[in-house]
Amino acid sequence: MHQITQIYVDGQFVTPQGEALFDLHDPTTATVIGKVRLGDERDVAAAVAAAKRAFPAWSRTSKETRIALLQRMHEAVLAHRAELIEAIVAEYGAPQSRASFMADHAAFSFLDAARALKAFPLEQAIGNAQVIQTPIGVVALITPWNNNAGLISNKLAYALAAGCTAVIKPSEMSALQTSVLLKAMHAAGAPAGVWNVVNGRGDVVGSALTHHPDVAKISFTGSTVVGKSILREASATLKRVTLELGGKSPTLILEDADFAEAIPKALMFGLANNGQACINGTRILVPRSRRDEALSLIKAGVEALRSGDPRDPTTAIGPLVSQAQYDRVQRYIRLGIEEGAALLTGGEGHPEGQAGYTVRPTVFADVTNDMTIARDEIFGPVLAVLTYEDEEDAIRIANDTPYGLHAYVFSASTERAAAVANRLEAGRVSINGAFHHPDVPFGGFKQSGIGREYGVFGLQAYLEPKALMGAA
Ligand code: NAD
Repeated sequence: MHQITQIYVDGQFVTPQGEALFDLHDPTTATVIGKVRLGDERDVAAAVAAAKRAFPAWSRTSKETRIALLQRMHEAVLAHRAELIEAIVAEYGAPQSRASFMADHAAFSFLDAARALKAFPLEQAIGNAQVIQTPIGVVALITPWNNNAGLISNKLAYALAAGCTAVIKPSEMSALQTSVLLKAMHAAGAPAGVWNVVNGRGDVVGSALTHHPDVAKISFTGSTVVGKSILREASATLKRVTLELGGKSPTLILEDADFAEAIPKALMFGLANNGQACINGTRILVPRSRRDEALSLIKAGVEALRSGDPRDPTTAIGPLVSQAQYDRVQRYIRLGIEEGAALLTGGEGHPEGQAGYTVRPTVFADVTNDMTIARDEIFGPVLAVLTYEDEEDAIRIANDTPYGLHAYVFSASTERAAAVANRLEAGRVSINGAFHHPDVPFGGFKQSGIGREYGVFGLQAYLEPKALMGAA
């Protein structure tokens, strides 16, 4: 049984003043595997005060000093890679391959941020002015459970690169990953107070950070509903915000695409991370002229995927993270049936022989875009297949959503796919694949968020330009 009883404030592991305990579960069996002691408003006050004390010195450090720390943090997290993978599998249920990707994302974020800092001019002359990119101040970094370690590292790396100091509020459901990261990052030897971590509930610790007058910026990744409440609360002190929120991303399979190649990829992007990725392509758009062919490939493809124990190397889809997620996904599957969508494969309940929070990968066909299962982010392995008449119709359906995080387009012609991609309302559109590059901006249009992360775009999110007029 894991006992996580400490948080990290002012360069030290300390016992939180909050006394509430929170259970950690093994999602494969639904049994309790640990307890985490949660912080409260008093811990937030101590952590923000430490970050505020550390800010004057850290904000004036040279690029070289920051890059050296980021390099040490990269090495320290990489040295804990195996332990981090084990924590991700144990408390989150990611299959091994996904957990390895997530651990690498955590470790390499520090190098990505160092590279962005190296390339980005922090000072430039414009007319007679010297324009200086100054760090915003103390920032609060709030992460979700579906990529807790990766997002802590990514947000912290860019905040430190910019010269900010930070208080991190990780997902309370991801305390094993957080504790591995803390151990690693502590070993990297940052000045005390430069980064701090307070485990706790969103409505206690998260909310206290959102209200704190000494926090200059919130970088939040999580649900759109919580993102909106943070935006409202942060407005009282006009905090800067970066919000990375939910999605209901479309995958457009154009009628000239090679279906044998496109459909397995579309399924992979729709179901990756156990269906719990913000960028999952959960609405698959197929042409009416090739509907039957598409449906038979989709059904065969999904039925070939093993769902269950994440430690089994043949498992493609692990369990959901919690009982609440399991119940939510079951509710959406029932709703799809009630709304009249055709159940192509899957359905309610566990896959045969499985327990815990494992669900049956489920696909609905003949979904219309007004159905709830086409509009809401379900956050589980549940896909909706919609049929379109022509390219215009496909673009119209794809854009008919409050979200705008990601989209995917498949076509035999890259040029044609790029022309369609250019008309989609999404922060990123992947053509004939799912691509990531750490120097390329990531973030949402519409209700998928505000601002961008990664590369110089992510760095600028922690900087405030100041103009010294007459200095140049
Ligand atoms: P969530 O919004 O419930 O929680 C996210 C974090 O916010 C947690 O640490 C939580 O404790 C905290 N929180 C909750 N209430 C708060 C409040 N009132 N004030 C401040 N903080 C509060 O999200 P989740 O269920 O943990 O994660 C899943 C969601 O995250 C999905 O909607 C997914 O699409 C989204 N997500 C988005 C991205 C992206 O980059 N756009 C990436 C990953 C996940």
